[in-house]
Amino acid sequence: MSGCDKCYGTGYLDAGTDARGIPLTKPCPCQIAKDTVRNVNRAWANLTSAPKITRSPLSAYTGGNVYVTATDATLRAHLRHVGLRGGPYWYFKVVTDSDLMTAWLSPAALVGKEILDPDAATVSTEKATLVDLVDPPELLVIRLGVKSARNSAMGEVLLEALYHRAHVGKPTWVVDQPTRRFDPSHIAFSEDGLHHIQQWHHAVLDDVQPGLAIELVTGNVESPQGAAPRPTGSLTLSAGYSSPGASTGTTTRIERPEATVKKRNVKGFK
Ligand SMILES: [Zn+2]
Repeated sequence: MSGCDKCYGTGYLDAGTDARGIPLTKPCPCQIAKDTVRNVNRAWANLTSAPKITRSPLSAYTGGNVYVTATDATLRAHLRHVGLRGGPYWYFKVVTDSDLMTAWLSPAALVGKEILDPDAATVSTEKATLVDLVDPPELLVIRLGVKSARNSAMGEVLLEALYHRAHVGKPTWVVDQPTRRFDPSHIAFSEDGLHHIQQWHHAVLDDVQPGLAIELVTGNVESPQGAAPRPTGSLTLSAGYSSPGASTGTTTRIERPEATVKKRNVKGFK
């Protein structure tokens, strides 16, 4: 921001004066960018460090429910993409099944009951109830698979979170992992929970592979009129995350094509 030649580091630009002659300001684009980065990292710690991808099928669902299956790294890349486009004030939040349990247990801690959950060694008094955790966000992303110690209430706690979100009419994304699907062996599983999220669109995200894209530009590439001729065989090296695309059947695509995402059962949020 300090290097900005529009606002000279103040973060704000002149926006004329109002009817009474009082000067008005508006945020500088550099300030909006900074606030957006802060907002994304608030939703999930350090999320802006995730790999950059060019598009995400999840973009279409910021106002609706989705059941997502993805590895943690892939989920982070997609959430980074969606979050950075949500602007500085979009209140989306990523919580884990473990967070839900901790919040659900905390009223017990407040009244001094014994807590019989080994994952809940540090019960936060900030998250006084489950509702306080799951109600406020505009979009709540529930990441399953973090809670490792079994607690027979986990399935019901997840269900309560889902029912509460449905009750207040706010969208929810539930995320499991390819190796830890939300099936009867899952720690947070319940038949009712499965029934609930099975009505949503299921987005299975292909793994995002961090890597170095090396593209060989051959002399066959036509140079624009008047431009300097491109040297044959020049090497374009771009540090980033490559999408091998449709080159072979064995490579991993960065994501599913947009066209495979069908809007169905986005329950009245759009
Ligand atoms: Zn600026």
